[in-house]
Amino acid sequence: MTAKAYIDQVLAETKEKHAGKEEFIQAVEEFLPTLEPYLNDHTEIVEKNLLSLIVEPERLIQFRVPWQDDEGKWQVNRAYRVQYNSAIGPYKGGLRFHPTTNESIVRFLGFEQIFKNSLTGLPIGGGKGGSDFDPKGKTDAEVMRFCQSFMTEFQKHIGPDIDVPAGDIGVGGREIGFLFGQYKRLNGFSAGVLTGKPVSSWGSLARTEATGYGLVYFVQNALEDRDDSFQGKKVVVSGSGNVSIYAIQKAQELGATVLTCSDSSGYIYDPEGIDLELVKDIKEVRRGRIKEYLEQHPNATYVEGSVWSLKESYDIALPCATQNEIDAKLAQKMADAGVKIVAEGANMPSSKEAIDLYQDQSILYCPGKAANAGGVAVSALEMAQNSARLAWTFDRVDDELKSIMKNIYTACSETATKYAEKDNLMAGANIAGFDRVVQTMLSQGLV
Ligand code: GLU
Repeated sequence: MTAKAYIDQVLAETKEKHAGKEEFIQAVEEFLPTLEPYLNDHTEIVEKNLLSLIVEPERLIQFRVPWQDDEGKWQVNRAYRVQYNSAIGPYKGGLRFHPTTNESIVRFLGFEQIFKNSLTGLPIGGGKGGSDFDPKGKTDAEVMRFCQSFMTEFQKHIGPDIDVPAGDIGVGGREIGFLFGQYKRLNGFSAGVLTGKPVSSWGSLARTEATGYGLVYFVQNALEDRDDSFQGKKVVVSGSGNVSIYAIQKAQELGATVLTCSDSSGYIYDPEGIDLELVKDIKEVRRGRIKEYLEQHPNATYVEGSVWSLKESYDIALPCATQNEIDAKLAQKMADAGVKIVAEGANMPSSKEAIDLYQDQSILYCPGKAANAGGVAVSALEMAQNSARLAWTFDRVDDELKSIMKNIYTACSETATKYAEKDNLMAGANIAGFDRVVQTMLSQGLV
């Protein structure tokens, strides 16, 4: 069977088996076809049916989470963990608390995580989880009770050498702190069971900044490779969470003007450059809405709807909000605004049609599994520090992050050049991430 026929067959089987799980099918459809040139060179993968093995998680756990709200009412949420692939290390990946979380979302995130983690070069397998619990509008006490109930069940399935969760959308230092506290009550102190912990509970310095900084370091490498830099560039960022905040900070430090940030209701456009201290105060202290930015910057504008409909011209787009925030129509608007580089801080923010459009219009596309790998990479460094019972300085972690992002960029670019063309970083990321996992699986005799 040819590589192409084999890929088509596995895709068809996956679509049939998972009808309705749109995001999961999308992630697999964006991945498998790019492997064709690699499979042409590695016929053992076709012979041993390794694609079918890689799309099937090793384990999928679903459980209920009962908790009591401040009015004394009993609430129940649904939670998941997909332990996708442990060839290169313990399952590793975040937990997402958001009302849209379902099996399709968790599967797509877990699938992407396998190859992202592989690209870091560190010993971490792929996993992901979360719940349809919505932390928005909940009190600290409610979030704590939810996290405690979540961990009471979840602790059976994790461990420092088994599965090491961290944060994702809706799960930050506060939630990880509560989850860690409950794990400790049940099992004793075991620092390496979660990452993204508060620094006082053996969390790593620079973990909070890592995804946003890493995203900008990735783009910096891509720019340098084209004799260019961030200096004087106009950058458009979506989102105003952890990834966005630290991407904005690093891009500003490197001389760019960041024009926007957003939340699920609308976006701020500030031609003078986003006032990051204010965004941090609104989101991290007040846990408020981005519209409040106008109270202190009346010259900025607030527009309801997607930031990607912005008409002002800009050079670099950093989507850092959520999956499928950019469809083909919005991608066309980005192209009309003159964007040259799209680098994903979020997981799968671009639809398949949007990616096709970037590629048709020679916009350099930096896929999330490579560009946003800095977060999980520093999580792996947190695991290393916890095992050694040491705490590294901020600068040491940041230096490691810089070199990891450089290596990821180089691996993507070189693999793209070998199997596709230099600028096809999507093919490069997919093939380089897949190669390490699949060769390890073969060496372990799993098939
Ligand atoms: N949720 C993040 C990601 O999408 C980080 C996961 C982790 O640190 O384990 O990669």
